[in-house]
Amino acid sequence: MNDLLADYRNDLAALEAKGMRRVLRTIESAPAAHVRMNDRDTLLLSSNNYLGLATHPQLIAAASAAMARFGVGSSGSRLLSGSLTPHRDFEEEIAAFKGTEAALLFNCGYAANTGILQGLFNEDDIIFSDALNHASIIDGCRLSSARTIVYPHADVAALEELLAAEWPNRHGKWVIVTDGVFSMDGVIAPLAELVRLKEKYDALLMVDDAHGTGVLGATGRGSAEFCGCASAIDLQMGTLGKALGGAGAYLAAARPLIDTLINRSRSFIFSTSLPPAVPAAASAALRIVASPEGADLRARLAENRQRFTARLQMAGLDLLGSTTQIVPILTHDPQPTIAAASALLAAGICLQGVRPPTVPVGRCRLRATVMATHDPVELEAAAEKIIAILKGQEGAE
Ligand SMILES: *Cc1c(COP(=O)(O)O)cnc(C)c1O
Repeated sequence: MNDLLADYRNDLAALEAKGMRRVLRTIESAPAAHVRMNDRDTLLLSSNNYLGLATHPQLIAAASAAMARFGVGSSGSRLLSGSLTPHRDFEEEIAAFKGTEAALLFNCGYAANTGILQGLFNEDDIIFSDALNHASIIDGCRLSSARTIVYPHADVAALEELLAAEWPNRHGKWVIVTDGVFSMDGVIAPLAELVRLKEKYDALLMVDDAHGTGVLGATGRGSAEFCGCASAIDLQMGTLGKALGGAGAYLAAARPLIDTLINRSRSFIFSTSLPPAVPAAASAALRIVASPEGADLRARLAENRQRFTARLQMAGLDLLGSTTQIVPILTHDPQPTIAAASALLAAGICLQGVRPPTVPVGRCRLRATVMATHDPVELEAAAEKIIAILKGQEGAE
């Protein structure tokens, strides 16, 4: 019987030998800018909690009040018994925030992307998907019965050639889907140009704004606001577990699209809805994002990012064109990437080393994420430490 496990052990050993084995690290405190790990104080440089809202008193109060009133669990899928006032209220608020007719909550971004693409697109349809889109979009393409055409990353000219080539045989619906901010590179999608193409070729445009919502644009409405084309995005998907500090995801879109998903999206239909405290906290997060406090947090995030990246760039490190709070530092191969991440952890700084298959071979990187609640002086010290460790590796080669 033990032989059944031998394959798994061998596979894990092979991953280990290549420096590709992933392991979990436990955080023993709330996920703020500083955390306790292995019983010591550690600077967290790998958090998606960009505005620090995960520990904000107003979110905790909103979640606690909703839990006291509505209980812990939602008791069912939305179509059975799990559609509670906090779910509906958040959907109305996010639709208003994004300027769409309607919105729908999903249990997480992964469930949203798989459920949206599966629920809206069928055999006759084509999904045009950016080559660096998030894994949940890739899996959504697989779950959908539509044909998927992957276009080279952010390459609008190449996408137009693909659209033009398919045009003579056009029958079903077309959708162009892209991350708003690419999660491993920190670059913003060319949304204004994608809007031009979607209008020219009569396609829908879907943007996954997991890393843009709450952060980008003058009022935090995300990458589409940043690019000046918010009203032209047909399917505005985003997550609540990153800058909004909680959990879950949404799609903001026209009413017929939302109503179709309520009827057809399997991840929506066949899953217990979020605990009511979760959308209640998300509503509180939206209010903060839209307030002067939100503007102040965004300004601090931008300043922190600027200080951190300026140091790294001065040292000649390649940040892969990042213009956002996601700051990759190119390290090429898995072994030095993991060695650097371990050395940083030993020095009290937690950030991820990212390896294939998450990124292409030879494009391994340290991936740092900046928060509004980081102390700027500590960020600069962390940048110095990263530089010292990476330069030390070069010297040792
Ligand atoms: C994190 C992320 C998701 C998944 O969202 P979860 O709520 O964590 O499941 C989807 N898309 C992108 C671009 C992401 O970064």
